[in-house]
Amino acid sequence: MQITRRKTRQIQVGSVKIGGDAPIVVQSMTMNDTHDVEATVAEIRRLEAVGCEIVRVAVPGQAAADALPKIRSQISIPLIADVHFDYHLALAALKAGVDGLRLNPGNIGSKERVTKIVKMAKDQGVPIRVGVNAGSLERDLLEKYGYPTAEAMVESAMRHIEILEEQNFYDTKISLKASHVGLAVEAYRLFSQKSDYPLHLGITESGTVATGAVKSAVGLGILLSEGIGDTIRISLAGDSTEEVRVGFEILKSLHLRRRGVNVIACPTCGRLEIDVIGLSNRLETRFSHITEPIDISVLGCVVNGIGEGKEADIGIAGGRGVGLLFRGGEIIRKVPQEELEAVLIEEIENLVAARRAERGEATAVSGMTRLSLGG
Ligand code: SF4
Repeated sequence: MQITRRKTRQIQVGSVKIGGDAPIVVQSMTMNDTHDVEATVAEIRRLEAVGCEIVRVAVPGQAAADALPKIRSQISIPLIADVHFDYHLALAALKAGVDGLRLNPGNIGSKERVTKIVKMAKDQGVPIRVGVNAGSLERDLLEKYGYPTAEAMVESAMRHIEILEEQNFYDTKISLKASHVGLAVEAYRLFSQKSDYPLHLGITESGTVATGAVKSAVGLGILLSEGIGDTIRISLAGDSTEEVRVGFEILKSLHLRRRGVNVIACPTCGRLEIDVIGLSNRLETRFSHITEPIDISVLGCVVNGIGEGKEADIGIAGGRGVGLLFRGGEIIRKVPQEELEAVLIEEIENLVAARRAERGEATAVSGMTRLSLGG
């Protein structure tokens, strides 16, 4: 399936481009109290380690705003401040040097206040995300439409956009979140027919890790396959690193991003000769820090040859006493069953080191530092 992405205006959040021809960006939001600098920075570093590209923090009060400069100085990905209603907090976040704001200008109050924020954001090159949520639509829109509809959500977004455009501000991205998958899909579709602002996709309050991942995959999968969406956040009631993992898995499954180790495990059946499930989990954990895109195939037996794994960069197939190691669809050698895991790990490390060497990088693949002398 070839996905043609919808052409959107490009904006920049710190060093990360969103929209236009930029790759779809995976972002997350921290769970800790933002004013707890130590805990928030530790969480963001964990998010960075699993590939999070932009992080958002809630700024519910002055203590959180005061923490922003300290957080900003200790992380390397762009920081977005999530502000509701209070324009002082928006100004404080901008002063703190955040890379983006999530703020609905229609909720800020007087035009003077909005002008102050927009002027400062513009001077600093800070984009604003307008975040429409089906659960908190303006009262008059609910009265007009009767209940939260896609039309009501889009009308709400357009109002906020109009306020920004009146100030000649166009560095905007939009989200139209709902916990009902169908409603969110409809709202994003409708908006994308009317405007070329980049879209931040998300299904809000989607649930616990398993439920939320499924709901997000269904909703975002529909939109992404139609070319809609420039950045994604998977909302999960669970560890925030899971949001990033799920986000990348959704993008990888549609071939919209390639990143890190992709373990292609056979579905297992009665012919199984090795512990496919345990080994696949161990490989995913062991190589979770690797960013190079590598497809690894783990087959439980050789009954179908290596056909099921031939698309992988590298893989193994279990056998009675002896398994097979294969690379790029070719069998490399036979390996005693008990050595299969160790041999596969070594081969993966070699492959990662070789790819990094091609780029002239000194690398630490797994505790051991491999120095690339090439190039
Ligand atoms: S690779 Fe072998 S064990 Fe795995 S599903 Fe296929 S036949 Fe079954």
